[in-house]
Amino acid sequence: MADEKILLAEDDPQILGMLADFLGGQGYAVIRATDGDQALAVIKNEEIHLALLDLNLPSLSGLQLLFLLKSHYPDTEVILFTGYAGLDSAIQALRLGAYDYLLKSDLRLPDLQAVVARALEHRRLAKANRELVDNLRHAQEELARRRALELVQIRRIGETLAGPVTCEQLFNGLQSLIWESFSLKVLGLELHAGQEEAPQQAYRLQDGVADTTFKEFKDWLKARLQVDETSGSTASLSEPAPEKSSFPAMLWAKIQAGEILALVGAGREVPFTPEEIELFRIFTLQGEAALKNLVLFEQVKMLAIRDGLTGLYNYRHFWEMLAREIEVSRRYGHPLSLLFLDIDDFKTINDTLGHPQGDEVLKTLAAYLQNSARHADVVYRYGGEEFVVILPQTSLEQAGEVAERLRRGISHTPIPLPTVKQKITVSIGMAQLAPEMDGEALVKAADTALYQAKQGGKNQVCAS
Ligand code: GH3
Ligand code: MG
Ligand code: MG
Repeated sequence: MADEKILLAEDDPQILGMLADFLGGQGYAVIRATDGDQALAVIKNEEIHLALLDLNLPSLSGLQLLFLLKSHYPDTEVILFTGYAGLDSAIQALRLGAYDYLLKSDLRLPDLQAVVARALEHRRLAKANRELVDNLRHAQEELARRRALELVQIRRIGETLAGPVTCEQLFNGLQSLIWESFSLKVLGLELHAGQEEAPQQAYRLQDGVADTTFKEFKDWLKARLQVDETSGSTASLSEPAPEKSSFPAMLWAKIQAGEILALVGAGREVPFTPEEIELFRIFTLQGEAALKNLVLFEQVKMLAIRDGLTGLYNYRHFWEMLAREIEVSRRYGHPLSLLFLDIDDFKTINDTLGHPQGDEVLKTLAAYLQNSARHADVVYRYGGEEFVVILPQTSLEQAGEVAERLRRGISHTPIPLPTVKQKITVSIGMAQLAPEMDGEALVKAADTALYQAKQGGKNQVCAS
């Protein structure tokens, strides 16, 4: 109780002394003031728990003091002394937040003792209540802050995972997202992008991680490849057994789509909270969904530029690539030639063997052309039974050699069909890009040459 301070403001020295002695005797720390200014100086100087104020004080009235006290130190309780004449003011004082008032003429010490104790108890309760409300408000603010953070994270997931157009961009983004969202010692990515590609790895490391710890972590992550997850294609998440850990806390997930398989592993000293584990799970699951989209997108793109029957690039892709090759040829001053190739009397083959066998002929010829073309030469199905070959860095003379080799090879290689070995021949028209030509002019020139080859009796090569 001694730590509870009571300010006693009373201009009558006798009453002041008597009350101060009495309250001091009760164990309170009593500070005396004989006028308003003194009382104000005390209030400004230290934390007062309870103020006992005479309504009629020199220099500052009790009411003015009450007002100042309540507006600056709302936790301080105030009890006023008044005579009968000041009753109205006492009632006003209650409205201003005073706890109670006592009539001076009728002041009995046991009453004073009781009201002081009640006022201080009231203060303690009010203070505890205010702290509770403050804590609640802080908790709410913290919750709002976390929600805002979660929203930022959700937005970042969207930005990171919806934007990338390559697998590499996607994994870079995912790695940055995880690295920046968790406080990690090490973050690793092991990527297997299909049988033919060499495995890749990317690690991020805080300063101060020992080489041996880092190596243990990498070995651990790589070994996760052998862990067969029942969930299969969905990103799965696991924590390692503690005794096998290079870090006390580790998390990993497998991300899989098509031929691509990636392992993401994180390690640090401080255990992951359930929220962090969930966030890691969301990141990797979303990463996997984005990867699946990318793979699908690649497949669709492939389908869009490939011919369904022969698997060769189609007409649309031919025009795109021709424009590109013309640009390259002009930039480097290299020659560029084009072969236009058409099966002779294909209608007859269709008519005698049927359309499905005709399809087989087309497929076999397409494969033959693809295999016989030089590495840089690309074969396209231009339409029905017409094919084009773009020959970069090739003069008309060299193109003639390629064309002749193809023509001869085709005419000497009958196509094995279920009922017959079908002999076919092709006519080939060729042209070289001239300075004044655009793509269309080059195609037209090769087509004109093809027409000449047909006119000349088919199974031959003509240049325009
Ligand atoms: P030419 O020697 O003058 O080139 O005579 P052709 O019979 O080869 O030429 P024509 O243009 O008269 O006939 C082409 C035929 O190719 C007609 C068409 O039905 C057939 N054809 C086009 N696309 C396909 C296809 O995808 N599959 C099959 N089986 N036939 C096709
Ligand atoms: Mg034909
Ligand atoms: Mg034709």
